[in-house]
Amino acid sequence: MSTVESRFGPYGGRYVPEVLIAALDELTAAWEEARTDPVYREELGALLRDFVGRPTPLYEAKRLSERTGRRVFLKREDLTHTGAHKINNAVGQALLARRMGKTRIIAETGAGQHGVATATACALFGLECIVYMGTEDMRRQKPNVERMELMGARVEPVEAGARTLKEAVSAAIRDWVTNVGDTHYIIGSAVGPAPYPALVRDLQRVIGEEAREQILAAAGRLPDRVIACVGGGSNAIGTFAPFVDDGGVELIGVEAAGEGLDGRHGAPLSAGRTGVLHGSLSAVIADEEGQILEAHSISAGLDYPGVGPEHTMLRDSGRARYVAITDEEALRALRVLARLEGIVPALESSHAIAWVLSESAGEGIDLITLSGRGDKDLAEALAGLKRLDDGDGDGEDG
Ligand SMILES: *Cc1c(COP(=O)(O)O)cnc(C)c1O
Repeated sequence: MSTVESRFGPYGGRYVPEVLIAALDELTAAWEEARTDPVYREELGALLRDFVGRPTPLYEAKRLSERTGRRVFLKREDLTHTGAHKINNAVGQALLARRMGKTRIIAETGAGQHGVATATACALFGLECIVYMGTEDMRRQKPNVERMELMGARVEPVEAGARTLKEAVSAAIRDWVTNVGDTHYIIGSAVGPAPYPALVRDLQRVIGEEAREQILAAAGRLPDRVIACVGGGSNAIGTFAPFVDDGGVELIGVEAAGEGLDGRHGAPLSAGRTGVLHGSLSAVIADEEGQILEAHSISAGLDYPGVGPEHTMLRDSGRARYVAITDEEALRALRVLARLEGIVPALESSHAIAWVLSESAGEGIDLITLSGRGDKDLAEALAGLKRLDDGDGDGEDG
């Protein structure tokens, strides 16, 4: 395998305090070794199979296909242990940390999903786990806080600023600077300073590798379009990676248009600019002075003002296309999938479903990554749909 990339075109890099450079070098070297080491690969493979529940199925959604006039296949990351793809990365990094002799894991979380995945992986390996979380997020995501604590993690409240993800990231970085000797920082998406964007992609690549094999077996050929939602971009880059060299396969990343691209949104690739966030250069949502602005999406996982650097490169080169779906479109798509297929998708994944529902002219095969299940979103989705229905008068979707 090639070396672990630190740049993707002009993007990526390491915009971090000097004291972290040695730790990032150590992590790069450890990953370069581990990812081709049969011992690590075998142990990770066994855990992905027996603990995470891989391979996840590729399901041909027949009624959704009827609705769209295309053959639609869903890659079922919602069926993993803990109900979303984040566990693939958390288990892989925890295993790597143990191999590096680290005994203490830190992470930060906004909605709590990455915190839960990290707490799960730490319980699995008996590693000490500290999760930084803004107190506003702790209030909003109380069940996830309780879940993390039940699994033995310590949730460290962060009181600064808006008391949300951005401040939690700063607190985690401060902790890492202080405790870098025995501590590994598990970043939850394909973002952050090098080597994280490459490391997280490599760990999520299993999604695309399985899906590519499964669709060849099921349909006898590659799909015409591969579609995934993009927050930080880990489920999308993990899905895209094994298809990048298949020239005939269109890659489509779906960002959160939130209230609309000229209002509050979570779509740095569609409507942002270039800037530095959380240690790397990429597309961000910022003002003219480069001040990062608050993102908005109805789905917590897409409510982030940055995106992984590899996506920004794929956008510039034209190899992948990035589109955006509003809160309202995602809500309606959630209900369409629930009614047509008996699957309640996460609001994040509903963005990818919504795009296929809106762009289904012509025949062809679509492969959509269903990044997670919607149980966590039920209250939010039902309240949102009720608002829409009261405004609509009919309650029907299309
Ligand atoms: C966190 C999350 C996302 C967004 O993260 P990516 O890194 O962009 O994949 C998408 N879907 C679900 C279910 C999530 O939990």
